[in-house]
Amino acid sequence: MLVLVVNAGSSSLKYQLINMDDESVLAKGNCDRIGIDGHLSHKTADGRKLDTDCTFPTHTEAFEKLVEALTTGEYSVIKSMDEISAVGHRIVQGAEVFDRPCLVTPEIIDQIDGLAELAPVHNHAHALALRACTKVIPATTPQVVVFDTAFHQTMPPKAYMFGLPYEDYEKYHVRKYGFHGTSHRFVSAALAEAMGKNIEDLKIVSCHLGNGSSITAVKGGKCIDTSMGFTPLDGVLMGTRCGAVDPSAVTFVASKHGFTPDEMSQYMNKQSGFLGVSGVSSDNRDINDAAEKGNARAQLASDMLAYEIQKYIGSYTAAMDGIDALLFTGGIGENSWEVRERVCQNMSYFGIEIDDELNHSTRGQLMKLSTPNSKVEVWIVPTNEELLIARDTIALISK
Ligand code: ADP
Repeated sequence: MLVLVVNAGSSSLKYQLINMDDESVLAKGNCDRIGIDGHLSHKTADGRKLDTDCTFPTHTEAFEKLVEALTTGEYSVIKSMDEISAVGHRIVQGAEVFDRPCLVTPEIIDQIDGLAELAPVHNHAHALALRACTKVIPATTPQVVVFDTAFHQTMPPKAYMFGLPYEDYEKYHVRKYGFHGTSHRFVSAALAEAMGKNIEDLKIVSCHLGNGSSITAVKGGKCIDTSMGFTPLDGVLMGTRCGAVDPSAVTFVASKHGFTPDEMSQYMNKQSGFLGVSGVSSDNRDINDAAEKGNARAQLASDMLAYEIQKYIGSYTAAMDGIDALLFTGGIGENSWEVRERVCQNMSYFGIEIDDELNHSTRGQLMKLSTPNSKVEVWIVPTNEELLIARDTIALISK
C-alpha cells in the first residue's frame, strides 16, 4: 500500500511517498516558492534527483507538478496516481474541534480553514492545499488529515487554561493547544517499544528540540501538559522565537517601539530566541561554534535553553509524580551532544545520569544514553512525523 504524505505551508508543499508494506520512502521532495516563482526538488530512494525551476502560481500547479514527478519521466516511481491508496495531510491546528485524524470532506476542509484565526500562518495554507489536492488526485483516492494539536487534547483544563477572564476562552477559544503532537506521540511510543515497556506504565518527558522546540509530559501514553501554548511561540527559547516571557514585557516593548500587534508578533517570532539573544544566528550549530570561540551572548543563549529545559523536566516530573524516561528528538535533540549534555548536567537529584562518551559519539539514531546507575532512562529517539501520518492514514481508511 502506498501513501502520499503532504505537509503544506503557505509557499511550500513537502511530500513523501511511503510504501507501507515495509514503511520505506520511495520518493520525497518539496514544491517551494509557491505564489512567488516556483522550484521543485524531488529525490527517489534509488538516488535520482531532480532540481528544477517551475511556475507555481498556486498550490494546484504545485500538486500537478508533484504528480508529474511521481508518475512520468526519468524521476518517476509509479505509473499512475491510482497506485496510491490514500493521501495523508499534516494539519497544524485542530483546536478543540479535532482530537483525532479524520477523512477529508469539503466540510472538513472548511472547518480547517475556519480555524485559521488560531493559526494564521498554517491553516489557510492547509485548506488551499487540500482543495488543490482534491482537484488533482483521482476522486476515488481517500484523503486523511492528521493534526499537530490532537495529541495534546488529553490535557486537563488546569493545564490548558490561562489565567485570563473565562469569557475569552468561551468566546475566542484562547487556551493552550500545544504543537508537535504527532512527533511527541511517535517518539513516546517508539521509546516505550525500545524500553520493552507498556507505554501505559511510563512517565516520559519528551523534548522535541529543533528550530521550534517543545517539551511534553506524557503519562501513560497521554499528554498531560506541554510547553507550547496558544501558538507555537510559548515555552523554551527557540531559533527565532522568544518562548515564554512575562506578558507585561510584551506590552512594554510594544509601547517603547510603537509596534502594532502584528509587528510585535514578528519581533517575538522572527527576531528573538537564539538569534535575538546571541546576535549571531538562529541555528544551534552556529550558536555552539560561537560559544566555543568565546562569544558570551551565544553561550548565554545556549545556557538559557538548557536551563529552561531543565526547569520543564522538574515541573513535569512534579506534574506526573515521577519520571521514568527522558527523551531527546528533533534536529537539536537528535544531533547536539552539547545541548543534551547541558540539560543532563546537575540533574542527579532526579536520578539522571548519562554516559558522556556515548552522548558525544551518538547522532541521529535510537540510543539509550543513560548509565546503568541512572534512575531515569535517557534516550535519543529520532522522530518521523510523516511515517506516523501515513500509519494514521492507513488505520483510518482500513476501518
Ligand atoms: P525544524 O523545527 O525546522 O523541523 P529541525 O528539527 O530540523 O528544525 O532542527 C533544526 C536545528 O537542529 C537547527 O538549530 C540545527 O542547528 C540543529 N542541528 C542539526 N544538526 C545538528 C548538529 N549536528 N549539531 C547541532 N545542532 C544541529
